[in-house]
Amino acid sequence: MTGARMEAETQEALIAALRLQLDWGVDEALDAEPHDRAARLPERPEAPAARAPFPAPGSSPAPLRAQPQLLPASLAGTRAQALAAGADSLPALREAMAQFEGSPLKETAMNLVFADGVAESGLMFIGEAPGADEDRLGRPFVGVSGQLLDRMLASVGLSRERDFYITNILPFRPPGNRTPTDAEIALFLPFILRHIELARPRLLVLLGGVSAKALLRSREGITRLRGRWHQVTTNEEQALPALATLHPAYLLRTPTAKREAWNDLLMLRRKIDGKD
Ligand code: URA
Repeated sequence: MTGARMEAETQEALIAALRLQLDWGVDEALDAEPHDRAARLPERPEAPAARAPFPAPGSSPAPLRAQPQLLPASLAGTRAQALAAGADSLPALREAMAQFEGSPLKETAMNLVFADGVAESGLMFIGEAPGADEDRLGRPFVGVSGQLLDRMLASVGLSRERDFYITNILPFRPPGNRTPTDAEIALFLPFILRHIELARPRLLVLLGGVSAKALLRSREGITRLRGRWHQVTTNEEQALPALATLHPAYLLRTPTAKREAWNDLLMLRRKIDGKD
């Protein structure tokens, strides 16, 4: 092998290793704002309290900072259901979700992303999970895919300030924007079902496969589910018309699919206008 070829291969391997680190969330430890960690140190360190050099047998070392205890997975589902069922308004539901200590996603996220838009509009969009921009700002669909969605909806006369409400299946960003696991979706399902009950929309739009499969309890992929009206049934046995459509992030990666999304939006418009 020539020196130049070896050099090119090493470079390629290094770039692949860096890309893998990014995919796995190496940037997750970074905050939007810089922190001066040194400023937190006391100016004159206090003398360490006298204590035994090793913890007594059976005792555990004192935690560095008090952290709320993560609920065991076996209790987390029951707790989510109880918190969701106990919320009697949207602000109470938001508070209940903020109190929920049943998911490690809360530890890595910067913010709870609850909802945006007009809750009383009668039209509710449900996406997958917050991305980096949403996590930073605490609002759903504010990054590039959200901006595309807003432009697409504007083309059928719908605006976030007036005509619809929008949220996600998960209120916390999965590290590195990975796809939520089935266990995470199942854990947060009571919250989104209660969210629908409290917002009382007349129509739902399910954005992408995660949202459609979770709420329609279907194993079919979004390409089969999209373009049709289905029914979502809440715990209160409310059955709501729900249109499944492609996720705007998918449309950014696959611009040719915008044609199908456009047809779906026309279906939505016709339903809103009572022509369907
Ligand atoms: N994708 C989603 O599904 N939700 C958001 O809030 C942002 C991107």
